[in-house]
Amino acid sequence: RRVNRFSTAAATEELIIPPVQISHTQHLINGQFVDAASGKTFPAYDPRTGEVIAHVAAGDAEDINRAVAAARKAFDEGPWPKMTAYERSRILLRFADLVEKHSEELAALETWNNGKPYEQALHAELPMLARLFHYYAAGWADKIHGLTVPADGKYHIQTLHEPIGVAGQIIPWNFPLLMFAWKVGPALACGNTIVLKSAEQTPLTALYVAKLFQEAGLPPGVLNVVSGDGPTAGAPLASHMDVDKVAFTGSTDTGKIILELAARSNLKPVTLELGGKSPFIICEDADIDHAVELAHFALFFNQGQCCCAGSRTFVHERVYDEFIEKAKARAVKRVVGDPFKKGVEQGPQIDNEQFEKVLRYIRAGIDSDATLECGGGRLGSKGYFIEPTVFSNVKDDMLIAKDEIFGPVQSILKFKDLDEVVRRANATRYGLAAGVFTRNIDTANYLTRALRAGTVWVNCFDVFDAAIPFGGYKMSGIGREKGIYSLHNYLQVKAVVTPLKNPAWL
Ligand code: NAD
Repeated sequence: RRVNRFSTAAATEELIIPPVQISHTQHLINGQFVDAASGKTFPAYDPRTGEVIAHVAAGDAEDINRAVAAARKAFDEGPWPKMTAYERSRILLRFADLVEKHSEELAALETWNNGKPYEQALHAELPMLARLFHYYAAGWADKIHGLTVPADGKYHIQTLHEPIGVAGQIIPWNFPLLMFAWKVGPALACGNTIVLKSAEQTPLTALYVAKLFQEAGLPPGVLNVVSGDGPTAGAPLASHMDVDKVAFTGSTDTGKIILELAARSNLKPVTLELGGKSPFIICEDADIDHAVELAHFALFFNQGQCCCAGSRTFVHERVYDEFIEKAKARAVKRVVGDPFKKGVEQGPQIDNEQFEKVLRYIRAGIDSDATLECGGGRLGSKGYFIEPTVFSNVKDDMLIAKDEIFGPVQSILKFKDLDEVVRRANATRYGLAAGVFTRNIDTANYLTRALRAGTVWVNCFDVFDAAIPFGGYKMSGIGREKGIYSLHNYLQVKAVVTPLKNPAWL
């Protein structure tokens, strides 16, 4: 059954592409846009068609060495860590203002290179990008300080909260701008310098915002951006002896490699934000229409390419049949098409590799005893569009219930009672997020405490704010991003102990 057409009728034919040029394809090193040391480039694609839209400098160990040397100098000799926190805050605020001014170009570039609906990029992600820099720049940059500590004996003891030094940051392709913000915002607010490696699928917006940082007055070498793939450019960064900390977002398998590279080099501290298989639990007393809509959003948002996607929809047996009918009707109505068209909810998957991988999981679902309620195939004949797909009768041991699919595939499972659903929801190597849908406060309190996940959303999903910490239990990660918690990742604590020769009181 093929229920969705490419560019369905609900989307207007009007294209809403603001004028945008791909002006930056070179690395940013020490305040200059430069070619790769090797002179090599790699292609960046438009996932709507698979066509090449730019050739981007392909970084390797030599480019990483140059970028780390620039960041090292900018840290050791200043001016960044030596400037007053107020001056740093002013630059970050100017940057946030420039992001707001250039929102349309940034959103267009993000859609062009990533395939996400332009309206979502413009109205959901760009405001979050600016908000994050306002949060860290205005909220924290000039309010980071240590404590005085009471201790036994005649000593004055204080803690200094100092920047760690050069931060290496490696980000994925699913939210190129947001992942940039979550990493760069707190690191700069704390006075660190940075070498960031963007994902090879989506190098363009990181270079554009790097240019905005130059305009905002960020000194040379404070933020360096190198494009390139994981093994060639990411690995030399994670293992570099002059990098003091590494932060990574991506798959759990790559996260393990990053941890190993850090351990084998200089034992730099590592924060990891990895995969998930998040449960979304709908209790019998839930408002079903609302639950259907949110469970749909929890899975299908961003083409299903969210680390925290609600990818196991657990539904109580008393409301299960009604839920399936409504979830299917909602998926069938989903508007898939050119992400630059108004009203489009879902664009293409990021690239051919992810597209093929998602289709393989769909075949695995069909081959198991799960029931394919709708979707299941490719949409159109070019680009990487996949039909919104819903499976019911999914069992815990099926591949589609265990692996991170990272695509528009909803798996619905039935449950009987709360203890059972807690046990099953927790029976995964992941622990990134969970959703709970109930009108009963006692049920909500029980589930929020029993679920082993870094975020539990109650009667909502995917609520992000710069102030809310985000990160995983178990193999979903190490550490937390955003909020006050992210500052801990980018600060060292130094205890300073001074004898009190003539204390006024003791
Ligand atoms: P990945 O983990 O391989 O890539 C993420 C980043 O790590 C990219 O910048 C990449 O260049 C870099 N990288 C890859 N190998 C590296 C290495 N050996 N050393 C240093 N850096 C390296 O993810 P992917 O291959 O793009 O996607 C595979 C799967 O990962 C997806 O299907 C999805 O399940 C998951 N994923 C999760 C997230 C998330 O937000 N947690 C994001 C993207 C992908």
